[in-house]
Amino acid sequence: MVFDTVLLRFGELTVKGRNRGRFEQQMMRQVRSSLSIFPDLTFTKAYGRIYISLNGTTYEPVAERLQTVFGIVSFSRVKSVPSEPEAILAGALEVMRSYPDRERTFKVSVRRVYKKFPYDSQEMNRMVGGHVLRATPKLSVDVHRPDLELRVEINEHATYIFTEVTAAAGGFPYGTNGKAMLLLSGGIDSPVAGYMAMRKGLELELVHYHSFPFTSEQAKDKVIDLAGRLATYAGRPLKLHLVSFTDIQTSFTQAKQDHLIITLMRRAMLRIVQQLAEASGALAVVTGDSLGQVASQTLGSMNVIGRALELPLLRPLVMMDKQEIIQIAERIGTYETSILPFKDCCTLFVPKSPSTNPNLRVVQTVESYVPQLQQMIEQAVQGTEVLVIEPGGTSAKQAAESRDWF
Ligand code: ATP
Ligand code: MG
Repeated sequence: MVFDTVLLRFGELTVKGRNRGRFEQQMMRQVRSSLSIFPDLTFTKAYGRIYISLNGTTYEPVAERLQTVFGIVSFSRVKSVPSEPEAILAGALEVMRSYPDRERTFKVSVRRVYKKFPYDSQEMNRMVGGHVLRATPKLSVDVHRPDLELRVEINEHATYIFTEVTAAAGGFPYGTNGKAMLLLSGGIDSPVAGYMAMRKGLELELVHYHSFPFTSEQAKDKVIDLAGRLATYAGRPLKLHLVSFTDIQTSFTQAKQDHLIITLMRRAMLRIVQQLAEASGALAVVTGDSLGQVASQTLGSMNVIGRALELPLLRPLVMMDKQEIIQIAERIGTYETSILPFKDCCTLFVPKSPSTNPNLRVVQTVESYVPQLQQMIEQAVQGTEVLVIEPGGTSAKQAAESRDWF
């Protein structure tokens, strides 16, 4: 095997920010846990990087898994050799020879990180280039638009030789930017919102409202399945809070204000999650709202609904089109589950003409007439069932394709 090591690179902020130590530790933890199924790998941390020695492990499945780890900006498979001129020349040739022997152009880019190395980068460029050219007659040099760029990075303890840089998921390592609660419905949007929140380093707890027995066991299983997929990206189990919304919903239907029912339900959901967040130490709530998508997501509705929550309400999809959201859902492996047709509590009692511009005063007045609303909210919080959902489900292949997006 020509390539024996994988080099991982992190984002600028992860490398240079004030929390660098914590980021790097968390990064290492995430990388190790996502690759724990490969027992022979060994890991080394260096400034802003992680080196993974393959020790005979096949590269491709490792690369697929790395695509699910947030905070990695790019990675490369590399050949490592001792930082000595002869070893570098031999290694460079071996790397070039690993490509099928045909006419192609290349250029050499040497980076000398170890300044005491006896030759500077220009000298090394010429030496490596000359050596490779002499030994492989079908190659020629093109410094502007080469087919292959042969990169040589000379560090003190080893030199890394490689030709490819693969874009990865980016973002921050999971959990390095605080904790939030994700409102997870069974739909297309909220799992994507969760993915994007985790990609920004948010630790998530998930909250789902059901109206059992009006909503089915299958609807619950669907949400559990989606939670499992999100847990894959977290690289660890996620808490899923299942909240019974049946009583609250039933009493809203009795208020005979059909056009306001979605507004009322959303506000009650936020009141409940506010309490769950306080108990969990979360500092924000994430939803899959997208501006203008449905009546409850007009600016007027968002205004009235959002006021029920004291914490910041984060809406990662707010400015995205449905088609863009669907593309991400497909790539992160949640779409197929999201489109399963089981009714969720909000699709149960959809009114014919929901208000797109509810009036806050009116909504507050209606709420004040709903008997025992506050008690029902307390009961819903008290009765919450908490499941711990293990990572599962996501096909690493789908995840690997998601990198084109970010
Ligand atoms: P999706 O359900 O995929 O989010 P949607 O277009 O169906 O898309 P809505 O049903 O309007 O969206 O819901 C808006 C947001 O409110 C959801 O993205 C989700 O964050 C939250 N939400 C809606 N229903 C529930 C539920 N039953 N449990 C938890 N959160 C919910
Ligand atoms: Mg929905």
